[in-house]
Amino acid sequence: MAIYDVVIIGSGLGGLLSAVFLAKEGLHVAVIEQNKQVGGCLQTFSFEKKLFDSCVHYVGALDEGQSQHRLFRYAGILGDLGLNKLDENGFDQVIFGDDQQAYPHAQGLNHFAEVLKPYFRGSDGALDDYVQILQQVSDSFPLYNLRNGDASEKEAVSHWTMQDMMQRISDEKLQHVLMGNNLLYAGSRDKTPFYVHALVTKSYIDSAYKIRGGSSQISKLLWRRLQEHGGVIFRNEKVTRLTEKDGLIHSAVTATGAAYRAKHFIANVHPAMALSWIDCNLIKPVYRKRILAAENSISAFMVNIVLQPGKIPYRNHNIYWNRSADVFAAVAYRPGEWPANYALYFGADDQNPGYADTVAILTYMHAAELDAWSHTRNITAEPSARDTAYHAFKEKKAALLIDTVAQRYPELKQHIQAFKVATPLTFRDYMGTSDGSIYGVMADVQNPAGTRIPIRTKIPNLLFTGQNIGIHGVLGVSINAVAASAELLGLDYLLEKIHKA
Ligand SMILES: Cc1cc2nc3c(=O)[nH]c(=O)nc-3n(C[C@H](O)[C@H](O)[C@H](O)COP(=O)(O)OP(=O)(O)OC[C@H]3O[C@@H](n4cnc5c(N)ncnc54)[C@H](O)[C@@H]3O)c2cc1C
Repeated sequence: MAIYDVVIIGSGLGGLLSAVFLAKEGLHVAVIEQNKQVGGCLQTFSFEKKLFDSCVHYVGALDEGQSQHRLFRYAGILGDLGLNKLDENGFDQVIFGDDQQAYPHAQGLNHFAEVLKPYFRGSDGALDDYVQILQQVSDSFPLYNLRNGDASEKEAVSHWTMQDMMQRISDEKLQHVLMGNNLLYAGSRDKTPFYVHALVTKSYIDSAYKIRGGSSQISKLLWRRLQEHGGVIFRNEKVTRLTEKDGLIHSAVTATGAAYRAKHFIANVHPAMALSWIDCNLIKPVYRKRILAAENSISAFMVNIVLQPGKIPYRNHNIYWNRSADVFAAVAYRPGEWPANYALYFGADDQNPGYADTVAILTYMHAAELDAWSHTRNITAEPSARDTAYHAFKEKKAALLIDTVAQRYPELKQHIQAFKVATPLTFRDYMGTSDGSIYGVMADVQNPAGTRIPIRTKIPNLLFTGQNIGIHGVLGVSINAVAASAELLGLDYLLEKIHKA
């Protein structure tokens, strides 16, 4: 049996990037993925010959010199990645209720402030202050700037709450507009640390791009680079157990009975899931309890629409609608308030330049709304029919969401050619999570120790990576991959390589 240097469980962005970083250094790496398609949240799918992103619709910090650009360049995928820059004067447009005004989020920190100033007379100072604070928070997270730093830098800003920071801005409407794309991080008023808002929004303000050919281009290219460096991905292999010998993980065993041995293991899955595979006393109950207690983000409901050709002009921006000015209310919506928000992501039609051929509508949904069907599982590779009540639920919710969008954008409903729906169960089954949570473990500013999951585990040869370890999103997960790989390569060494690439 081959003994790998590193076995990585899960081929999400975190697993794939870590695999490439390690394989580039000559380590013999294997990735084990339960799905047929690699990439986790980077997967794409198509129907009616139109391509859809299953999750990732745009990526931040991809201008030359910015962190995502450097990391993809080091991974060797940047040259082959087709990128379309979203509108520099408003990559996101934020709207509220039936207010006709759309507020643009522009690219470039200073530009962002300047573009919003005409909408908020008297708040020039507040906007300048806000972008400076985003910069300060970003500077305080050394790895976000691809430098080795001191934990105390982060600690200095980690306790800042959303409430405290936003209250520095006296114009309440401006506060709401700044948080209007809250769907990007599922923020909650009492829990979300300000740094989560700051790092996520600043990454897109720095620069915002769509991936030409869909987000799976990232995973396909990473897979190719991995192969070139001697790495391998085993697909359709679901890890169910980690065996232990002499205080170390010995092998990852899959549902097919295959065992993959390695010197080191990196779990790119939810830590609670990884711990459930280990049945030995290496994991102390208190550690297990802490990880199991960490709260996950809300799940989502998405309607992916194929539009009739040549009818809907392509918008080179995303739209974020919030029913209430209180953007935090959406994450805790009550029955009757759904959909409390939505995002619209448009796809450009290559056959009809200037027009959109697809639009995706994304909103929150509590996984508990699907409790009646939580025992069912359905993916293309293992289809299983769900009952008519489930399909009726999906259709009813999709109609409600489409009608809500149509109140403002009636042309979208008028020109639907076909659509498909993803529910929290779809996200759960395709992303391999237990509850369809979109962003995994949520940081809690009131309980940092309980919600920050370290990369190192209590088992010396088992590490974690992915969105549950730090910030979610393409940039967050890429940074977490640097941190996980650095455990085996050394941080200064790896950073130097990244800078020299
Ligand atoms: C709806 C939605 C929209 C989003 N939009 C954006 C966006 O526009 N921009 C952005 O930057 N980010 C976005 N994100 C966030 C981003 O997609 C994620 O943070 C990131 O891709 C997660 O990467 P990951 O490495 O943690 O792994 P994941 O993508 O979660 O992948 C984990 C992998 O592990 C595999 N796996 C699970 N269990 C097993 C097992 N037992 N055995 C083997 N393999 C297993 C899964 O199949 C999966 O492939 C979005 C997320 C969602 C859900």
